[in-house]
Amino acid sequence: MTLSILERSVVASNVAPFEFALAHGDGIGPEIMAATLSVLEAAELSLAPREIALGEQLYRAGHSAGVAPESWAAIEGTGLLLKAPITTPLGGGVKSLNVTMRKTLGLSANIRPSVAYAPYVPTHFPGMDVIIVRENEEDLYAGIEDRQTDDVFQCLKLVSRSGCERIIRYAFELARAQNRKKITCVTKNNIMKLTDGIFADTFRTIGQDYPEIVQDHMIVDIAAARLATDPHRFDVIVTLNLYGDILSDIAAEVAGSVGLAPSANIGPRAAMFEAIHGSAPDIAGQDIANPSGLLLAACMMLDHAGRGGAACLIRNAWSRAVEEGVATRDMGGRLGTRAFASEVIARLGEEPRKIKIAKPAPPLEIVHPADAITVAPAQRECVGIDIFVQDRALDPNLLAAALRAVPLGAFELKMITNRGVKVWPDPNPNTITTDHWRCRFMAIQGIRVTRTNAIEMALLLSRAGIDVVKTEGLYTFDGSPGFSLGQGQ
Ligand code: NAD
Repeated sequence: MTLSILERSVVASNVAPFEFALAHGDGIGPEIMAATLSVLEAAELSLAPREIALGEQLYRAGHSAGVAPESWAAIEGTGLLLKAPITTPLGGGVKSLNVTMRKTLGLSANIRPSVAYAPYVPTHFPGMDVIIVRENEEDLYAGIEDRQTDDVFQCLKLVSRSGCERIIRYAFELARAQNRKKITCVTKNNIMKLTDGIFADTFRTIGQDYPEIVQDHMIVDIAAARLATDPHRFDVIVTLNLYGDILSDIAAEVAGSVGLAPSANIGPRAAMFEAIHGSAPDIAGQDIANPSGLLLAACMMLDHAGRGGAACLIRNAWSRAVEEGVATRDMGGRLGTRAFASEVIARLGEEPRKIKIAKPAPPLEIVHPADAITVAPAQRECVGIDIFVQDRALDPNLLAAALRAVPLGAFELKMITNRGVKVWPDPNPNTITTDHWRCRFMAIQGIRVTRTNAIEMALLLSRAGIDVVKTEGLYTFDGSPGFSLGQGQ
């Protein structure tokens, strides 16, 4: 390996020990991590990893989140974690380690670039280059799930205005720093008007500060279809947690292979870098896994840590190798994991001839949460209460009669819905119902009520034998309703 003067200066700047926490992971994890570290070491980075145990062995040892308490100190101490994929055991009682890591460390931005390397990696979309910026902590991934009745289970979707601001501001800043031309906001705000609605509204508001960037909004279903068939129409996508999870796998797959895609999880004080794929138990221990996703994630870590020169050195060697046909099985080649890494190492100091030459990327910094929160307190007034009831009789007229038989003072029954659709008054006989009923009580016009009045009313119903399973306060915020209507209301 012969290094140019520029590369020697890069190397010289890399002699300070590079500290980061490191987890070898499960399945193919240890193989691709060994290959990745061999390339980093060959790039003459003076590595000082602090190894931590995560994943299967920790789950087995009784840590339900897959992480030992002492591991947090190593991550917080270095602010960086390079993590190989882990296996999440199936079944109850176990929490997703990835979700725990992201939320405990406040890693609110997930950045997933998907780049096509045609013709070296087969794809229908040469030239594809899309970055997905995914909100990483909220949405249905809050993990708040309950069984409500014999029949019905619930998962709570939580979206905060401050969380939307944080991720959307981040996406615009990233686009600006990387000279990207367009951002597409993806939501389902035609259905979820409050949660996805606040995401889309925040996108429009923050977008006004970035007039040089083209902005559009798409509903997630058509966005997914277009990403799979015409990815060139996208540049940067910013979206909620669940949609981002799905869209980024589609993007990685259509770009060539999930084995190539890296991912960064960025917070104000710590950041975690990983491949987007899982632990691939089907090919573990065979030396055939593609280490590229993790290696390119390590390059994102180097960018983030201000070692962009080293990241370029590795990316360029990787691109040169790929151009010369160096490929693992999933890329259409025959090389094993270790041989692939050796080929990259052999090209350190070279530049690609066809694939774009890598340039140092700016650190993927994030706005500190305290700086991002601009939510002003609103005048909140209680105007009613939704009382959720289990009732197996499946007759909304009978239920309404039972509810109205209880003297309720300042409240009156306005509506009953079942799985969101109005079934009282005027039930449609075709509507299929479950045992889970939302009974909406509103304050009688002209009477002011408080949350306490509403809860006392729920207690009255409960004492009268109604099987109340939960309540949800209905408020206005500065006079605007903070709740959705029933479908068909
Ligand atoms: P997977 O990504 O592990 O595998 C899907 C398919 O892609 C498999 O056929 C696999 O062989 C292939 N593949 C994945 N990575 C590859 C690579 N580097 N080189 C070549 N081929 C590769 O998804 P899965 O099978 O659904 O999940 C397996 C386990 O991984 C599960 O326990 C899951 O919970 C876990 N998982 C972990 C993470 C993570 O730690 N970040 C992410 C996703 C899934």
